[in-house]
Amino acid sequence: MSAFQRIQGITSSPGIAMGKALLYRPHEIETIPKIHINPQDIESEMGRLDQTRQIVLRELEAVRDRIEKRLGTNYAELINAQISILMDHHIDNEIRTYMTENLVHIPIAYRVVMNVYIQMLDDGESTFFQDRILDIRAVKQRVLRVLLSEDIQSFTNNSDEPVILVTKYLTPGDIIILSDENVKGFVSEVGGITSHTSILARSLKIPMIVGVPNIANESLSGETLILDANKGELIIHPDHETEHHYLHQIKKMGELNSFYIEHRDDIPKTLDGKYVELDANISLSVELDGLNDFGGSGIGLYRSEYLYVMKHTPPTEEELFREYVQMVRFMKKKPVILRTIDLGGDKIASILEQELLHEDNPNMGYRAIRICLDRPDLFITQLKAMLRASHYGKVRIMFPMISRVEEYEEALIYVEKAKEELRKENIPFDEQCETGILVEIPSAALMADKLAGKADFLSIGTNDLTQYMLAVDRGNEKVNHIYCHYDPVMVRAIQWITIAGHRHNIQVSVCGEMASDPLSILLLVGLNIDMLSVSPMFLGPVRSIIRGISFKILKSLVTDILKMEKRNDIYNALKHQFIQFFPDWKKQFGESILSR
Ligand code: PEP
Ligand code: MG
Repeated sequence: MSAFQRIQGITSSPGIAMGKALLYRPHEIETIPKIHINPQDIESEMGRLDQTRQIVLRELEAVRDRIEKRLGTNYAELINAQISILMDHHIDNEIRTYMTENLVHIPIAYRVVMNVYIQMLDDGESTFFQDRILDIRAVKQRVLRVLLSEDIQSFTNNSDEPVILVTKYLTPGDIIILSDENVKGFVSEVGGITSHTSILARSLKIPMIVGVPNIANESLSGETLILDANKGELIIHPDHETEHHYLHQIKKMGELNSFYIEHRDDIPKTLDGKYVELDANISLSVELDGLNDFGGSGIGLYRSEYLYVMKHTPPTEEELFREYVQMVRFMKKKPVILRTIDLGGDKIASILEQELLHEDNPNMGYRAIRICLDRPDLFITQLKAMLRASHYGKVRIMFPMISRVEEYEEALIYVEKAKEELRKENIPFDEQCETGILVEIPSAALMADKLAGKADFLSIGTNDLTQYMLAVDRGNEKVNHIYCHYDPVMVRAIQWITIAGHRHNIQVSVCGEMASDPLSILLLVGLNIDMLSVSPMFLGPVRSIIRGISFKILKSLVTDILKMEKRNDIYNALKHQFIQFFPDWKKQFGESILSR
């Protein structure tokens, strides 16, 4: 039995789970008997590979059907990635050459060639490559198992006890299948927070942490675990006190969630009557249930790029339209902000693999609106689909990573072109469909007074704005201490953008993670932000916070804060005020509320 231990990983899907460790080894085939063949056997061995491919194809199609039934067609696309690797015949010549030179049977030749591809991709860093490697490995294992007539090791959790699954890596297919069982959480050695598997874990609301080195070892099997994915922490063999603390936390979270659901229709108004619109950030349509459960006044940010991340060909106008219209209809007449793709940075799609993979500085490179203006084919398709959806509700189109007035004006020219095409095709759309800017680059923040005169709304993307204002990579743990929303520069920037927007009578919102951070909410409301857009799971606490604060007090606090030079002073002032508003905050929101 091991000792009490806390291990740090990276949160890929938040939440808390408790259970026994269940080790999941995605059936690595370690040894393959070396069987020699004669040159005349080579073609029959290749025939064996073809038959095997057909068997594996049927297996993968079955997984895909299951995913499609549970989560919809977009997720099923993830399995198509593996199917295209399986059916890729380009490697056949290499396999044939290897067999001719070494006269070994097909399982060995196939493994060698697939391993060469894995090694070529394994630069140890890029999330995108890691995802591709996981897919290639999964296909390789399936093919080898069939070739060697090994049973497919199906995963079963035999007891009714809840388990936390610990593994080296998980494929998207694994996560769907495994989440059918009594699996309450996932811990994996490999994976990034933008990996397909992490996206799925979040959509399925299963807590998950990744990047925990050497965790998948036998000695952990059956051990009691607590997964605190809110903090990115795994606790092994907790003592009584810790276990008790977490049992209490889980119970508290359940009670809080019931409270938030019950109060989802409460109007997000401060004690002194200032209304702050509260919307949801959505990445995939399955998250709409969360919005429904916890009540949102609209969708303040739809991150449309995930539709591209999951596909191997660009989605068609029709596919995009179907996705958008589903959301718009669901929201009835409530506003839906559709953001055009923000690919690049850490979000890479196979359609742009060549352009995006070898950039020295991807966060400042070929990204978001820059790609769209360079690739009118991709841009117009999105705009037409968005405009078509506007006929069925209230759509607003938003452009990410705008850095100059000219860029926004150029984007508007494409909106006009898209409208013109739809008119010619006699397809209806909302002529008044609004367009706005995601202000997330310092140059746009400083030019907010000019941009506001040309846009229908401004939304502040504080995740990137913080990154670029402070020149600190938002995903790099080494410099994480420099990344901070309470920095005076952020307060000044947000104030400037908000005043600029209001001078032109347009809405100014915040859709970065800052909008769901309790202390920042005080700051943002005090700065007179009109709308906060947060991930559905945070709608409840944010609504409760808005309803418990006073705009008048916060306006005066912000006047003091604007004179401060140091982020710590700002943090302390906000915390002090938060405790004044909510003296019983631990009871009211749960202890972890201020630890985010
Ligand atoms: C942001 O940068 O704050 C934002 C909302 O966009 P993303 O997190 O998708 O970059
Ligand atoms: Mg951004």
